[in-house]
Amino acid sequence: MDIDIRLDRIRGPVEPTPHNARTIAALTNNPGCTRRRVIDAAFIDKAALAAQVGYPFPYGMSPFAITRGNAFEALVTANGCAELLRLLREVIELPLPEVAYDDLGSVAGRETLQARHIRSKQLLAEAARSGEDAGTLFDHPLLKLDVSGRAVYLEPDLIAFRIGQSFRVVEIKSFPILDRQADPAKVKAAAVQSAVYVLALRQFLVSLGFAPGLVSHKVVLVCPENFSNRPTAAELDVRKEVAVLSRQLHRLSTLDAVLGGLPEGFVLDTTRSPAELLNTLSLLEARYVPECLSACEMAYLCRSEAAGRTAALGRSVQEQLGGIETISSVLALAAGTQAPDEHEVESAARLRAAEQLRRECLGGVA
Ligand code: SF4
Repeated sequence: MDIDIRLDRIRGPVEPTPHNARTIAALTNNPGCTRRRVIDAAFIDKAALAAQVGYPFPYGMSPFAITRGNAFEALVTANGCAELLRLLREVIELPLPEVAYDDLGSVAGRETLQARHIRSKQLLAEAARSGEDAGTLFDHPLLKLDVSGRAVYLEPDLIAFRIGQSFRVVEIKSFPILDRQADPAKVKAAAVQSAVYVLALRQFLVSLGFAPGLVSHKVVLVCPENFSNRPTAAELDVRKEVAVLSRQLHRLSTLDAVLGGLPEGFVLDTTRSPAELLNTLSLLEARYVPECLSACEMAYLCRSEAAGRTAALGRSVQEQLGGIETISSVLALAAGTQAPDEHEVESAARLRAAEQLRRECLGGVA
């Protein structure tokens, strides 16, 4: 059976939930998880699925953060991106005194995705074909990316432009850069999200016959400086993120072996009963890690399933425990009440030593 038909059947009679740059970026967080791969490839609404089985995901971006982000972006792009141009002259030594500016947020007052995408395509293609330093800023171009054989519109809060020989992607974020340092987790998230746009722009330009290298892997990150609203910018190299993302998107389209192992009636229609859905989900292997809590709406269900397993404590802890699978085994080996098998001898010795140390520190109380 065609893989798309199979995935549509798995989703059931429910509209597909479109991906966006954030959800595509999240694909890189736990690439080994089969459960997530199948759910994402079938375009199932993970938040609705998690809520239906009794494990709703309570997080989302706060309205305050959204308002602050929008206000900062408006400031950076005001007056034909005057502030942004100042930053680009500083950061990438933009040689042009003037650049053209195209706002693609709407086309002749029409805001349909299709109209905006067609217009974005036209302008980006013209810029790619012009042999000159076109120097055009494209405000909110609408890109498309192929995810698991399905076209996904990406509505970035960024600007792509052509300077010299390459397109640059500009990502505007509202987290601060303090003394040239920013929260590494936020910078990482911004890099992965920018990589989604780089990949989409490359996919489009390659379809026109251009080399992927026409889109630079160095994106420009714009953030507020220190505790002010004054923007500052830095270059981010997203080569690694682009490679990881490409690999993960490819894995989504090669699910034949996984789907072939699922029974005929395997359906994750989010209107089914919680018990039916839990039964069905149990057929998909999940690889819960603590990072899931910030990256996947299914995290509370998977965490509860992983309770008692060392994997739930994180990869580094699991490795330090020598790959022993359950917490009860770890405790029993440490207490000496369980004999180690041949692979566990070294880990068991370390655990017993740690337990001995703990007892000494507690003065024999424990
Ligand atoms: S939360 Fe569950 S489904 Fe999502 S990535 Fe983690 S293990 Fe996979």
